[in-house]
Amino acid sequence: MRDTGYTPEEINTGEAHSARIYDYILRGKSHYEVDRAAGDAMVEVWPALPVHMRANRAFMHRVGRFLAREKGIRQFLDIGTGLPTSPNLHEVVQEAAPDARIVYVDNDPIVLTYAQALLHSTPQGRTTYIDADMRDPDAVLASPAFQETLSLDEPVALLVIGMLHFIHPSDDDHGLVRRLLDPLPAGSYLAATIGTADFAPEAVGQVAEEYERSGMPMCLRTQAEAAAFFDGLDLVEPGVVQVHHWRPGPDDERVDDRDIAMYGAVARKG
Ligand code: SAH
Repeated sequence: MRDTGYTPEEINTGEAHSARIYDYILRGKSHYEVDRAAGDAMVEVWPALPVHMRANRAFMHRVGRFLAREKGIRQFLDIGTGLPTSPNLHEVVQEAAPDARIVYVDNDPIVLTYAQALLHSTPQGRTTYIDADMRDPDAVLASPAFQETLSLDEPVALLVIGMLHFIHPSDDDHGLVRRLLDPLPAGSYLAATIGTADFAPEAVGQVAEEYERSGMPMCLRTQAEAAAFFDGLDLVEPGVVQVHHWRPGPDDERVDDRDIAMYGAVARKG
């Protein structure tokens, strides 16, 4: 086994974890019994959960392609990467721009264990992985991997996809996103998805309770609270909408609004 710097005890297989529940629901292979039990309980109360998670992932793919192809972005900082699930962000953007450079960040030891799969960059581009917590933006920004991979003289796309519901307002949620955006030059982008119970309050509320029971308190936000992450930035059309309404393509699954508990948006830093 690769030396991840973590002892087996630190990779806790006795407690469910968000990255592994997500992986289980998306039919990945990296989960334990405890994650499957939590995931099954969630699907029981909200059968749309897999549809919702696929729509979140599809948003990430469309955004990566949009930024690389239409906006010429070549640098990406992806916070809360999750377990490798093909196609990963670098596969999507390097298909459009082989010289793209991607920095992945996650704080889950098991994601670190599997991070090797995120490091198969094109020869022209580069990918790196940082084991850090978003609640400590300086740990990301000061990391040699960040500094050696991305140039702050050129625009960077900051992606915070499918994870802000794990960041509580008491952690200064908006401030954390600002601190990551602050050093990025004009012409950079923020892309984020933000969990909400606006469209299926009861069922999504029960899923949140299930996460909470598994030790992962969840913060769901209204449209106004979601939009506040983009204050002071120029929103790309169509603004802050449910992820499946953000520039869907012909291959995207057609879904019901009630099945999607995620707002998404992309905005440019002026
Ligand atoms: N961005 C991916 C994965 C989302 S799953 C996608 O949308 O497909 C959420 C991920 O966020 C998990 O891997 C979890 O470990 C990570 N995460 C949660 N809180 C975090 C924090 N404070 N800092 C860094 N990563 C975090």
